[in-house]
Amino acid sequence: MTHLPERLLAGYRNFMAGRYAAESDRYRSLAKQGQSPKTMVIACCDSRAAPETIFDCGPGELFVVRNVANLVPPYAPDDQHHGTSAALEFAVQSLKVQHIIVMGHGRCGGIGAALNPSAEPLSPGDFIGKWMNLVAPAAEAISGNAMMTPAERQTALERISIRYQVNNLRSFPCVKILEEKGRLTLHGAWFDISSGELWVMDPKTGDFERPILD
Ligand SMILES: [Zn+2]
Repeated sequence: MTHLPERLLAGYRNFMAGRYAAESDRYRSLAKQGQSPKTMVIACCDSRAAPETIFDCGPGELFVVRNVANLVPPYAPDDQHHGTSAALEFAVQSLKVQHIIVMGHGRCGGIGAALNPSAEPLSPGDFIGKWMNLVAPAAEAISGNAMMTPAERQTALERISIRYQVNNLRSFPCVKILEEKGRLTLHGAWFDISSGELWVMDPKTGDFERPILD
C-alpha cells in the first residue's frame, strides 16, 4: 500500500475533526443539491496563492481553475484539448456564475519565464515556454524598457497580463454576450504574497488599486 505524505494525512485528520465536523451539514447538502458557486476564479498553480485561502471561502463557494500564470487562452473552437476553456464553458453555461476573477500574484514563476524566454527549457517539451507565448508580445515590450528594474518589469507584466487575460475572456461569445447583458462581471486582481495585499483592477482604467476594507 502506498502512503500519502505524513503532513497531508495529518492535515486530513484535522480537516475531518475540525472543518468537516463543523460543516458536515453543508457538505451533505452540497452533495445532494449540487454546487452553485457565484464566482469563478482563474488563478495560478503557485502554492502560495490559493484563492480559497485568500478569500476565506468554504466548500461550494468558488469554482476555481488554476494553470501556470493564470492565463486564458483565447477562444479557439478546434480539436485541441482546452482545459481552461472547458472549465470556463462549464462555469458560464452550466453553473451560470455571476463573476469571473482572473487573479495573478507577485513573484510568479510563469511570468518570470516569459520575461526570460532564452532560458534553457525545463524539459524537451518546453511546455512552459510555449504556454507563456500567450503573453510574449507584452513580455517583449516590457523587456525592452531600460527604465525599469527587473523587479518592476516582473510586477508590470504580472499586472498587464491580467488585463490581457480579462480581455481574452471576452473572446468567448458566451462571456461577451452575458457581460453585455449585465449578467456576468469580469474582474482582475493581483495578490502580493509577501504583504498579503490584494490589488483589484479598475474595470475602466485597468489600474490596480487596493480595495478599501471596512
Ligand atoms: Zn504564478
